[in-house]
Amino acid sequence: MSEKTLFQQIIDREVDADIVHEDDRCVAFHDIDPQAPTHILIVPRTPIPSLDDLAPEDKDLVGHLFVVARELAQEEGLDGGYRTVINCGDDGGQSVYHLHLHLLGGRPFSWPPG
Ligand code: AMP
Repeated sequence: MSEKTLFQQIIDREVDADIVHEDDRCVAFHDIDPQAPTHILIVPRTPIPSLDDLAPEDKDLVGHLFVVARELAQEEGLDGGYRTVINCGDDGGQSVYHLHLHLLGGRPFSWPPG
């Protein structure tokens, strides 16, 4: 059994995904179970398990994920706004332990989240 995370397998093209962006630091693809008309996951190539595992030297990488989110939001025409989410840990609702930024848009979102 592979020790790679599911998202690492997607990055390595061992599992299919609908990839919409890739560069030297991250890969972005449509979520398989979209919670909004636009639901894209932006995943660093480095398999950092969660936000809780970030090191100070990761700050440029994390900033890059958000810049990519903004670019994809523009490409998706999310002119009315959008939401970015990083779930962390069991209480945060994280299910895949490879850091990822959710980009959600195309409908209004409520607050507080569930
Ligand atoms: P999280 O719960 O924050 O860890 O988010 C994991 C996300 O990965 C969920 O929104 C899932 O729907 C999504 N997901 C799980 N498997 C796949 C897959 N094979 N391709 C794309 N997205 C996936």
